[in-house]
Amino acid sequence: MLSRHTRSADVLIVGGGIVGASVAYFLRALGFTGRIVLAERDFAFLWGSTRHSMGGIRRCFLSQVNVRLAQFGHEVYREIERHLSFDGDAPPFRPVGYLLLADGRNWSLLHAMHSRLRTWGLMPEWVGREALPQLLGWELEDSLVGGLYCPGDGVLDVPRVHAALYRRLEELEVETVRADVDRILVEGGRLVGVEAVLVEERARVRWKVPRAVVAAGAWSPKLTAAAGEYLPVESRRRAVYSFALEKRELPESLPPLPFLLLPGGEMVALRGEELLLSIPAGQAHEEDAALAVLRRLGPYGRGGRLLSGRSAVHDVHVRDYSPIVGPCPRAEGLWVAAGFGTYGVGLAPAVGFGLAERILRRRRATLPLDFLTPSRITQAAWVEEALLG
Ligand SMILES: Cc1cc2nc3c(=O)[nH]c(=O)nc-3n(C[C@H](O)[C@H](O)[C@H](O)COP(=O)(O)OP(=O)(O)OC[C@H]3O[C@@H](n4cnc5c(N)ncnc54)[C@H](O)[C@@H]3O)c2cc1C
Repeated sequence: MLSRHTRSADVLIVGGGIVGASVAYFLRALGFTGRIVLAERDFAFLWGSTRHSMGGIRRCFLSQVNVRLAQFGHEVYREIERHLSFDGDAPPFRPVGYLLLADGRNWSLLHAMHSRLRTWGLMPEWVGREALPQLLGWELEDSLVGGLYCPGDGVLDVPRVHAALYRRLEELEVETVRADVDRILVEGGRLVGVEAVLVEERARVRWKVPRAVVAAGAWSPKLTAAAGEYLPVESRRRAVYSFALEKRELPESLPPLPFLLLPGGEMVALRGEELLLSIPAGQAHEEDAALAVLRRLGPYGRGGRLLSGRSAVHDVHVRDYSPIVGPCPRAEGLWVAAGFGTYGVGLAPAVGFGLAERILRRRRATLPLDFLTPSRITQAAWVEEALLG
């Protein structure tokens, strides 16, 4: 039988991906001095989404709330050295632009997004088919009819950002614990504790804690269900391939490659000397599908040597494709942040900041998180969004 421990905390965060770590960071940034415990079962981060992310940072969404949150994230990443600089060195954000390519399937959706974004003060450009070769530096196949180009958006090296965030959390005295959380304890409609197996000690622990945040990605619904909270969040799989890039062999005149989101949900980005390519998984012969995308990438597709391929999950809120963030109605003191689709890295700073503001009961919350509240599930108050990737 496992030995048992009882501990206490002021705030316990379940899940140490980019969202959970951002909540911890912003609690401290807003001056919280209480005891914060971050419980994560795998500090190699092989299972969660974060370390597999392609790092595309975009402000182009269909709903104003997601645009606002993405703008906040963009500001944080653009000035990342203010948050995550060590000895003058910070993980870079590369503002190479973000290009959502259109064919017959998503053309009208991207056009609608384009006109909405302009009314909200963002100025993405609609690039017609004839102008794409100039933007990209090569000819694309006939099926593409153009694209929505968002200058100033770009690419983040997510593994480096996530690792730097942990270094900062250590300085800020956030306690990180390798623990597999399996029970959320609610009594009389109130959170009273969280139970877990301490993976290294092979012991059980119960934290007495008045406030907890479930930020466990695709595993969040399982944890909140035990507290009576149903989350319509599903786990989806993507494949990620990495190809070595011989930069010397690329034409010197080639413009910087924007982050690419293709109409079939495929994503392409450059990270250092690697070309990353991600496709929705589940189709037959995934590798062939990935190679077919590679061949569409002009000079980038020639001679790319496969370095690695892996499979990764992400969590999708299947009702409206927007994350579920806020207090759980049936368990006072319990908060949730899940259902981030393929945009959780971009939204994480706003979600971290916004949740920290609310957990600390700041009088005037600055970000419109209330639209994403879990109560909208029973009220069917959906936020209109599109799952493009
Ligand atoms: C291939 C791919 C490409 C993507 N590309 C982009 C992109 O370009 N831009 C973008 O913004 N987003 C992208 N995303 C999405 C993004 O990665 C996620 O939205 C984001 O990482 C979610 O962070 P999270 O912290 O909510 O979840 P996760 O990173 O999944 O973290 C959850 C953590 O909880 C832990 N956990 C789970 N259950 C328990 C438990 N019971 N006890 C303790 N710990 C537990 C897990 O181990 C995990 O580390 C991509 C995702 C994938 C898979």
